[in-house]
Amino acid sequence: MKIAFIGLGNMGGPMARNLATAGHEVTGFDLAAPAPEGVRAAASAAQAATGAEVVVTMLPNGAILRQVAQEIVPAMTAGAVLCDCSTVDVESARAVAAEAEAAGLGALDAPVSGGVGGAAAGTLTFMVGGSDAAFATVQPLFEIMGQKAVHCGGPGAGQAAKICNNMILGVTMIATCEAFALADKLGLDRQKMFDVVSTSSGYSWSMNAYCPAPGVGPTSPADNGYKPGFAAELMLKDLRLSQQAAEDADADTPMGQLAATLYETFVEAEGGRGRDFSAMLPRFETRGRG
Ligand code: NAD
Repeated sequence: MKIAFIGLGNMGGPMARNLATAGHEVTGFDLAAPAPEGVRAAASAAQAATGAEVVVTMLPNGAILRQVAQEIVPAMTAGAVLCDCSTVDVESARAVAAEAEAAGLGALDAPVSGGVGGAAAGTLTFMVGGSDAAFATVQPLFEIMGQKAVHCGGPGAGQAAKICNNMILGVTMIATCEAFALADKLGLDRQKMFDVVSTSSGYSWSMNAYCPAPGVGPTSPADNGYKPGFAAELMLKDLRLSQQAAEDADADTPMGQLAATLYETFVEAEGGRGRDFSAMLPRFETRGRG
């Protein structure tokens, strides 16, 4: 298949490389990052998109996605599919899908879970919004770049699934970290805490698969000095998107709101930027109630 890939950063680079390695003809464009092995570099996003059957975008945010869509939609061939894999606000996802569909293109929002490791290994999970036809066209590519693609509904449904999932993740990570800090102060051994909670009703992905306490549970960023992993500022981005969506939809999300506030303080005032999002545990460790 002839594929264009716009945004060849930490995630997009390895995803594009995996498509090329699988035998697809991939042309890439990025303002800064070099094209990975097997990917032909284009001079502009529009040039990359010209003649492509599928254009994949992997960009920092919704404003940039909208700007890139304005450049590439007119260059794309009718019937081609624009598949955005970035994490962006639901509004931007829906606006770009409407713009693409008005131009006779298919459109998908297909944000991912799995991080840089999943992108490199081709084991991402895709949460996809858009038409059945567009999903069917891109599904073989999801199978190369990932291990699972869930078609969640119409335009914006993929982004909705992503931000709801990550709102749960942010909240449960904070709850897990504050519980460890409380357990410390109560004199409870961390390994015992893990042994109980991971097999009791307090279990979660944050505790069981990504334990924020070093030396406890499976290997996680906590065992590597809290080097990301999933950086606290990326969690903050997703929590902000969840709160923006909650505002727009008039949804009451007090825990998500508090998680966004705590990660904002952590990233912007407490040295959390560049650390894994599970480094909330050392943050809580050093604090009292005051
Ligand atoms: P990144 O900053 O490494 O890559 C983004 C790339 O987009 C950069 O190389 C940048 O030069 C390029 N870019 C910016 N504006 C451009 C333009 N106008 N035209 C062409 N290229 C442009 O970010 P990333 O970590 O690869 O993340 C990409 C997306 O994936 C984000 O939306 C992020 O939220 C999401 N995501 C990231 C992770 C992760 O662990 N890194 C996990 C899940 C989802």
